[in-house]
Amino acid sequence: MSHISETRVTDCYCGKIAILKTSWTNDNPGRHFRVCPNTGGRGPALQCGFFMWVDPPMCPRGRAIIPGLLRKLKARDEEIASLKKRLRVMVAVILLLGFLLFFWFI
Ligand SMILES: [Zn+2]
Repeated sequence: MSHISETRVTDCYCGKIAILKTSWTNDNPGRHFRVCPNTGGRGPALQCGFFMWVDPPMCPRGRAIIPGLLRKLKARDEEIASLKKRLRVMVAVILLLGFLLFFWFI
C-alpha cells in the first residue's frame, strides 16, 4: 500500500508545467485548478490561455456554506490582529508604569 498520492503533471499549451492554484470565488471556494505559468505578471502576450479544473465541482451545500465560513474566519483573523495590537500597547504601558514606579521608590 502506497502513501504517496498520485500527482499528474499537466503541460499547458506553451509546453510548460501548468501551475496549481486555488480558487476563492463564491462559486468555487477552495477548488484547485491549473493555469499557464505565464498567467499574470508577464502580460497577456505570453499567456496561452490554458485553464483546467483539478477538483470536481463543489456540491451546492458546500457552495452555500463555505463562503460564509470564510467570511467568519476572516473576521476572526482581523479581531485577533486587533487584539494583538491592543495587547502590545497594554504591555508597553505596563512596562512604562513599572519603570516609573521602580525609579519612584529608589
Ligand atoms: Zn502556457
